[in-house]
Amino acid sequence: MSIVVAIDGTAGSGKSSVARAVGAALGLPVLDTGAMYRAVTLRAMRAGIDPNDAAACAEAARRARLAVEDGRVHLDGEDVTVAIRGPEVTAAVSTVSAHPEVRAELVARQREWVARHGGGVVEGRDIGTVVFPDATLKVFLTASPEERARRRAAQEPEAVGRDVDAVRDALAARDARDAGRAHSPLRAAGDALVVDTTDRSIAEVVGLVLERLGSGTGEPRGTG
Ligand code: C5P
Repeated sequence: MSIVVAIDGTAGSGKSSVARAVGAALGLPVLDTGAMYRAVTLRAMRAGIDPNDAAACAEAARRARLAVEDGRVHLDGEDVTVAIRGPEVTAAVSTVSAHPEVRAELVARQREWVARHGGGVVEGRDIGTVVFPDATLKVFLTASPEERARRRAAQEPEAVGRDVDAVRDALAARDARDAGRAHSPLRAAGDALVVDTTDRSIAEVVGLVLERLGSGTGEPRGTG
C-alpha cells in the first residue's frame, strides 16, 4: 500500500516547510493543494469572475489545465508559481475555495495526483479530514498568531514591508473563513498528530512526524 502523509494547518503554521522536509526524508513527492486553489482563483480573477459566483468559479476550476510538480505550478501552460502568491489572489482564495463545486473538482484531482505518483506528502486544510481520511499519518500544525504573522512578513513577497499587525489580521481573517466555512472546514482530524510549531524548529517538527511514522503508521496512541 502506498504511503500518504496528510499535513493540514493554518496559514503560517509551517506546513510547506515541514511537508517538503518530510517528503525529502521519505523520498515521497509533495503536493501543495493550496497552490491548486490559488491557481483556480487566479484563473477566475483573470476572467473577471466574481469570487462569490460559485457556478462561474466551478467552471473555471473544471476548465483549468493544472500541473503541480516539484514546487512549480502551471496553469493552462503558463508558469504561475509566483503569480499565485500575489496579494489579490491571497485576498480572494478563501472565498473561491469555499464553493463545494470548486472543492469537488480539486479534491478529485488531488486524489488522482496521489494515485498517479503512488503516494505522497499532501499539504492543505482538509487533507486528513476529507481528501485522504485513510492517510498513513495525519499531521495538524498550529502556531501562535504572532509567530505566524512574523513568518509571513519575513517570507512572502506580498507581506514584505507590511507591518506585522496588518499581516496578522489578514491571516486571522483568512483562517476564520477557512475554519468557518460549511464545506470541509479547516480542522484537525480526530486521529491527527497535533503539533504547535511556535517554539519548534522545522527539524524538530519533522523529527516528531518521522518518529510517529516509524512507531506504528500513525495510529493514535496512548489516548483513552
Ligand atoms: O496553503 P495556502 O495558504 O497557500 O492556501 C491558500 C488557501 O487555499 C487557503 O487559505 C484555503 O482557503 C484554500 N485551501 C483549501 N483547502 C486546501 C488547501 C488550501 O481550502 N486543502
